Amino acid sequence: MSLTEEELQESLLKDGHKKFRARQLFQWLHLKQVFDIRRMTNLKADFQDYLLDKFIFPDFKILNERKSPTDHTAKYLFAFGKKQVEAVWLPYQNRQSLCISVQSGCSLNCSFCATGKIDFKGNLSAAEILAQVYGVQQLYSRRITNVVFMGMGEPFYNYDSVIRAANLIAHPHGMNISRRRITLSTSGVFTGIKRFIEENQPYRLALSLHAVFPEKRNLLMDIEKKFPYEEVLEYLRANRKKLQPGQLMFEYIMIDDTNIFPEDAKELTRWAKLLNAKVNLIPMNTEFNGMRPPPQEKINMFWKTLVKHGVVAVNRKSPAKDIDGACGMLAGKYLKPSVL
Ligand code: SF4
Repeated sequence: MSLTEEELQESLLKDGHKKFRARQLFQWLHLKQVFDIRRMTNLKADFQDYLLDKFIFPDFKILNERKSPTDHTAKYLFAFGKKQVEAVWLPYQNRQSLCISVQSGCSLNCSFCATGKIDFKGNLSAAEILAQVYGVQQLYSRRITNVVFMGMGEPFYNYDSVIRAANLIAHPHGMNISRRRITLSTSGVFTGIKRFIEENQPYRLALSLHAVFPEKRNLLMDIEKKFPYEEVLEYLRANRKKLQPGQLMFEYIMIDDTNIFPEDAKELTRWAKLLNAKVNLIPMNTEFNGMRPPPQEKINMFWKTLVKHGVVAVNRKSPAKDIDGACGMLAGKYLKPSVL
């Protein structure tokens, strides 16, 4: 399932099969999302035998489903061998988003995030990333319109598989999800950001800032020590012509008495305007690791300051909160984070 149509073609041609078989197989997998070769009715039995012999087909299980009684979101626990990950279905009025994972656990240790506290089991393959999209899609009649790589793990520490999976779900012979509706979210892995920009990737890029002063960001995100955000932002500023309008956004988790003071709003406004970036404000969902959500009036005041100064800022409610599916909560009740 990780192979592109061209790679399938090449492989089939080498073994003496017709080119059009690659398109048929690609469509079964990525458009019809049928993974049982014997159900691929327009493929002859001997060709099915050849495929079973030659390729490994996806093998995944949905171990658990948790549906929210309040906002219709749902969280799914997938198992790929020993690797377990979660994906979250987020239906809105005009779109259906799916938040997917790219690693089992996360090697980073952001202090506000439950995922960073569970055991890291490694990268997912492109097929394992896709299995979350196709596995959840099969459960709903409404089409997934948006995919956000914002679940467990750091996408740019699994760059090749992430881009491969994004290309496959955007492929016109597959699900054909618009590239502008696919978002990769990074904690600020500078090497990956540079590669993303140099390769002119068409996907939306969400940079998890969460603080705009080095000392504060250091407390929240270990990655600040390795890749200081100011260097990342200066690089993006120097290369902003390579970004399409609306392609860049900042993610900013609001934590009481930590990163929502007036000076934070001022500095965040400055960077958002310099880079023409939209800002997604996410109130912390629950008390965790000694941090707590701000009261509503502080949230509103922070948001209003940004908007008043001309920043496009969205004050995101926290969907999937009651099923532990909101941002920073993907450790489930199943995976037992060590600090919970
Ligand atoms: S916020 Fe993202 S990068 Fe940080 S620990 Fe959680 S999953 Fe990893």
